[in-house]
Amino acid sequence: MYCSVHNNFSQNLFSQQRLISYFIIFICSLFAPANSHAEWQTEDAAIMGTTIHVEVWHMDADIRQQGIDAVLQEMERVNRLMSPYIENSQLSKINQFAHEGPVEVDKDLFNLLEKSIQVSELTNGAFDITYASVGSLYNYRKKLKPTEQDFSTAKEFIDYKNVLLDKDQFSVSYAKQGVKIDLGGIAKGFAVDQSIMHLEKLDIKHALVSAGGDTRIIGDRLGRPWLVGIRDPQNIKEVIAMLPLQNEALSTSGDYERFFVEGDVKYHHIIHPSTGRSAKEVRSVSIVTSDSTTADALSTSVFVLGAKKGLALLNSLDGVEGVIVDQAGNLFYSTGLEQPNNN
Ligand code: AMP
Ligand code: MG
Repeated sequence: MYCSVHNNFSQNLFSQQRLISYFIIFICSLFAPANSHAEWQTEDAAIMGTTIHVEVWHMDADIRQQGIDAVLQEMERVNRLMSPYIENSQLSKINQFAHEGPVEVDKDLFNLLEKSIQVSELTNGAFDITYASVGSLYNYRKKLKPTEQDFSTAKEFIDYKNVLLDKDQFSVSYAKQGVKIDLGGIAKGFAVDQSIMHLEKLDIKHALVSAGGDTRIIGDRLGRPWLVGIRDPQNIKEVIAMLPLQNEALSTSGDYERFFVEGDVKYHHIIHPSTGRSAKEVRSVSIVTSDSTTADALSTSVFVLGAKKGLALLNSLDGVEGVIVDQAGNLFYSTGLEQPNNN
């Protein structure tokens, strides 16, 4: 799907950018016809611990404003429901009480938990929301990590099979005390998809919504694709590749997002569920597919899987493409994005 629409254009852009090194998201609003500027409206906000960026095109200023308001309200709603940092969010309630018995939750949260577990199964456990049993013991901003003893105890609780879902009751329980979950690897993508749904209800045909590294686009940028750049993980001020996108979602996961370095160890926010340590093999992963929830979950998953297994997974999935940068700065493309021979 992705390549048949964009392959030539994307290959040219990839090859032009080839010598620049690599990765996250940088929105380029190039190529918009000048006479259409009046109908674009843009807004930025800080929600869900990240920057929300919305661009909406519509002839009617009221509709544009309604669209932007709907997006920001939706982001706030998802944050209130799913933030581990809000004590009375439903996610926090699960972490507090689910070991005692079933905790009933909203349908949206339940469905996202179900989707998370499906992705765990698809990725052979690379994606695992119970990573938080260990992950919640880190504070990257304050450079805090658990003692080895606390780490070893917590690591035993990482296993998505410890999360038990009851679809009849929309309830969640934990198999044991000590399990913790966090939806940081999928919730922003979900919030972006929800936002796009609100914009579509308003009959908005051209828009872009991003939440940190998760972006989704409705339509094109009035006759041209949107150009979304992928940053260089070695130097995040540089863009290594530009992807032309329309009606698609792009998610980037990078080890430069939240981390601290102690000695020669880099502690960052993407945890390998089988070791409990930060995943080491690659530095960034970008996924393009039709929806942000899937793109978000798969960018985190492929980061954990590494280049070889990650590419094998991407190439086995229809309508999903990706670019991976490993520790040595090598680029790996899924088959739909493969680079042309530069000769
Ligand atoms: P992303 O920003 O989409 O790459 O996701 C990174 C976030 O996903 C982290 O900040 C954690 O909240 C969460 N996370 C870390 N490791 C995992 C994992 N193995 N499976 C699922 N979520 C994870
Ligand atoms: Mg993700």
